[in-house]
Amino acid sequence: MFYKTSYLATGGCSNHQGILGVGTKQYFVSEADYLKSLKILDFLLNKKTYDEVIKFCEKNNINKSIFDTLVEHNLIVKENLYVEKKDDLNFKNKLYFHALGLNGNALAKEFADTTFVIVGCGGIGNFISFAIGSLSPRKIELIDGDKIEKSNLNRQFLFTENDIGKYKVDVLKKNLVERNNKLSISEYKEYVSKEVLHNIFEQNKKNKTLVILSGDSFSALSLTAKACVKSEIPFLNIGYLNDISAIGPFYIPGISSCPFCHNALSISDDISSGHNESKILEDRINANNEAPSSFTNNALAASMGMADIIEFLSHNYERINSLNKRFGINSATFEKYVLEVNRDRKCEICSHGE
Ligand SMILES: [Zn+2]
Repeated sequence: MFYKTSYLATGGCSNHQGILGVGTKQYFVSEADYLKSLKILDFLLNKKTYDEVIKFCEKNNINKSIFDTLVEHNLIVKENLYVEKKDDLNFKNKLYFHALGLNGNALAKEFADTTFVIVGCGGIGNFISFAIGSLSPRKIELIDGDKIEKSNLNRQFLFTENDIGKYKVDVLKKNLVERNNKLSISEYKEYVSKEVLHNIFEQNKKNKTLVILSGDSFSALSLTAKACVKSEIPFLNIGYLNDISAIGPFYIPGISSCPFCHNALSISDDISSGHNESKILEDRINANNEAPSSFTNNALAASMGMADIIEFLSHNYERINSLNKRFGINSATFEKYVLEVNRDRKCEICSHGE
């Protein structure tokens, strides 16, 4: 087991205090301890064994607790967490995972073992498939029957004016592979259905699978959630309600609530219960409705979803923000909204066999 100074290590001085690291792991030390910390970091720019570190500390009159604190704050890294500096797609991703306190090497392997089914290839589908594609997953399955329109180009950043009229799944696949030529991608030029999900689940039944839905219709959410629960496939809904980017609840079979538990999201194939005149007017108003899809609400929702997917694949279920919750952030004010969705032991969809 060796130790080495992490690429995350930084130092600075202010008001006779030393500042080590940045972000949530940043900490302050006295000037004397700052110099000692820098000496250890400098010594470990080349990897050393634990015994060599102890000898160095003794020789330089440095308390071992200074070394331990550097390790605890990710400024010194142990061999199993060490990320090789390489000009490849994974180097910066792994470093980011290390900054989160996660094992970047183990997480990269989880991505390599997982098939991601992306239902809906619009704004959020572009961002999320780009993020997942950069992590070299086992496979990506893209489902969307839409063709590219000019009004998509304000946020669907992997499409250009030359792509207008083409199927989104075709152009997305081409652009993802151009960024990572090791990707295996299947595309389905159709809207999500029980049948297409069933076929994909059958093909992937020996592999870990995660379904990500970014469609904007209740019927897509309803049938995707039901198919996932029935086949015991984990599932995350990523979307936005005008100016609120919202994700969850993150369904993990046997562990967390599904979107139908306690009818918390009021999902129903027919959500209207008004009398005739209201129903007619409501249909007319809703037919006129357009989602205000823009960069901020789409990119924020995709980032929130990706953050929870990383914790899910790290098996840190207690750190998933949307576990047993619908979790929203106002895309203008950053205000947080949380709707608790506890597991419903009588849920018609997910309580079978319990
Ligand atoms: Zn349920």
